[in-house]
Amino acid sequence: MATETYRFKVGAFECFVVSDGTLTYAPPNFPPPATLLFANAPRARLEQVLLEHDVQPEQWMEWTSSYSCLVVNTEQHLMLVDTGAGGLAPTTGRLLQNLQAEGIAAADIDTVILTHGHPDHIGGNTDAQGNPAFPNARYVLWKDEWDFWTSEQAEQRLDEHVREILLRCAHENLPPIQEKVDLLDPDTEIVPGIRALAAPGHTPGHLALEISSGGEQLLCISDVALHPIHLECPDWYAAVDLDPEQIVTTRRRLFSRAATEKALVFAFHFPFPGLGKVIQKGDSWHWQPIETEG
Ligand SMILES: [Zn+2]
Repeated sequence: MATETYRFKVGAFECFVVSDGTLTYAPPNFPPPATLLFANAPRARLEQVLLEHDVQPEQWMEWTSSYSCLVVNTEQHLMLVDTGAGGLAPTTGRLLQNLQAEGIAAADIDTVILTHGHPDHIGGNTDAQGNPAFPNARYVLWKDEWDFWTSEQAEQRLDEHVREILLRCAHENLPPIQEKVDLLDPDTEIVPGIRALAAPGHTPGHLALEISSGGEQLLCISDVALHPIHLECPDWYAAVDLDPEQIVTTRRRLFSRAATEKALVFAFHFPFPGLGKVIQKGDSWHWQPIETEG
């Protein structure tokens, strides 16, 4: 069985990447991966880049993405970043059992940070009865994100083909946590050592996180990039990036920072455990995954 948890340290903070499972994106439910991930890529250049990644462009009809959540134990706080997809698919919703295997009960988590309101990031907010799945946690997200999903904005701005599934998931997973939610502005410290960074574009209130301890830094970029090729070609937005211009600006800002500061980076959708470095290469970047054993 593939490993579903990866432990590491950031200074004094004990961290775990915990898998929620995977999802395979393929027609007819999704556009072909090349269209889904690189909506505006010029065909010839895309084919060339895919071949460099050992992908045969015309045969690339499905993309299996990891869904990886992050746990940070700061000693004062036990924090979870994103709750996974819950029962979205038979291959998702493994977060709670994987936490349990590490000796972490849902009731132990005191802070849940939601990077944004998409089904794969909030789908585990509630249990089968519709109650908060992390009963002792405050749930934290950017105020703009909450406002987007709980007002008419989402209805007006989402594409027809994804509107129903996204809205249904938001309606099931956001109102039940209303009493426990802390809405914040970015560039604030959530708990000591963990700072929210504005990273809009994929959604209007998408957050990145800066996690620092003992002079070490982890940059959690969540869905600023969905695939490592987005580092090489940061202008190729995904069909699910709500504001293409904004996501490109956000990517450039965060990739540049990650490369300059040589920060460890965590990306939710990258191959498990989604940890690596962003390396500057000309005026773009590339992804260097950490070496894991076995
Ligand atoms: Zn996602």
